[in-house]
Amino acid sequence: MGCLALNASYEPLTIIPVQRAICLLLDRKAEALEVDANRPVRSQNLRLQTPVVIRLAKFIHVPHRFRRQVNNTFLFARDGYRCVYCKRTRAELARHESLTRDHVVPLARGGGNTWDNVVTSCGRCNLKKADRLPRECGMTLSVLPREPNHVELVWAVRRVTPVQAKYVRLFYGEDVLAALKPGGPANGAHPQLLSTQS
Ligand SMILES: [Zn+2]
Repeated sequence: MGCLALNASYEPLTIIPVQRAICLLLDRKAEALEVDANRPVRSQNLRLQTPVVIRLAKFIHVPHRFRRQVNNTFLFARDGYRCVYCKRTRAELARHESLTRDHVVPLARGGGNTWDNVVTSCGRCNLKKADRLPRECGMTLSVLPREPNHVELVWAVRRVTPVQAKYVRLFYGEDVLAALKPGGPANGAHPQLLSTQS
């Protein structure tokens, strides 16, 4: 389990290794907001409790493009591990099939590798669509691609604990967490995080 690092503004930034978090604490570059008292760590001659959530002392500016770069792990999670064209889920694909990244407006035709232009597609639909627009081949998108917010991303990889989820909720609000509910566990969500009161 890693440590959730918050910006000075309390914006959840990323999950970092606990050792890295300890270094930041020792260097006074961060403060610990949550520790796991049941997991003491020994670092040189020091005895510390495992940091679970830390907050950076100084605000760091993270360029927008670095925050939410498109990668397949997050992309597939955003789309519920389901092909947006034929709506088959990963579990429904044949053994030799897999999910792929499709560019709605193909790269060859000026489309970008951006969240609003990428969708999860099974290999079969991706092959069928090729370098065409969906409407040119009678295909329709079951969902419109959009940029996921941070909570969906950390959720996607299921690395946040209930204590850490509290800080994600603090920054993004209850509505963001509630908005994730309909998909439920089927889209890779972690139901335990939805009801955390810790
Ligand atoms: Zn498909």
